[in-house]
Amino acid sequence: MAVQPIRLFGDPVLTLAAEPVTTFDKELRVLVKDLTDTMVDAPGVGLAATQIGVSLRVFTYDVDETIGHLVNPVIGLFSEEEQDGEEGCLSFPGLAFPTTRRQRVVASGFNMHGDPVTIEGSALLARCIQHEVDHLDGILFIDRLDPDQRKAAMRAIREAEWSGLTPPAVRSSPHATGGLAV
Ligand code: ZN
Repeated sequence: MAVQPIRLFGDPVLTLAAEPVTTFDKELRVLVKDLTDTMVDAPGVGLAATQIGVSLRVFTYDVDETIGHLVNPVIGLFSEEEQDGEEGCLSFPGLAFPTTRRQRVVASGFNMHGDPVTIEGSALLARCIQHEVDHLDGILFIDRLDPDQRKAAMRAIREAEWSGLTPPAVRSSPHATGGLAV
């Protein structure tokens, strides 16, 4: 296990676009393992590399008892159909807000060995993929909320006990995630 501290909202790394992976080496395989271990430990549905302070385009997911990862992900297809539901994020411990996402997406990229991979996801997996690819573009789920929900979210964040803590000193959240946090 190599569980890493999860960066919380307020850490600048979360709002930067991550760099594409160019070398599929041992370092990348260690990153995928660290992401997987940290996600499972949290527990979370997904985790982007930026959330452990690594600005590379890699994320992991754990949906419907399937654990996987995608390197340099690109969403090539979004369904017209949308889904509503509560969404959380491991970088916002204990918080969840109604977030509209596309019902189905198809994402392509690579596995850690450099082989091309395509993932087709609907429902929670589709939500997870959209959330994680957003992370890699420096976009957070609160940026996807409607204006009223965003106002409520910002208020809840200000009131959260973790708000304003010095990011590098923060360890993984002790809060229950209810299985919603990605
Ligand atoms: Zn997140």
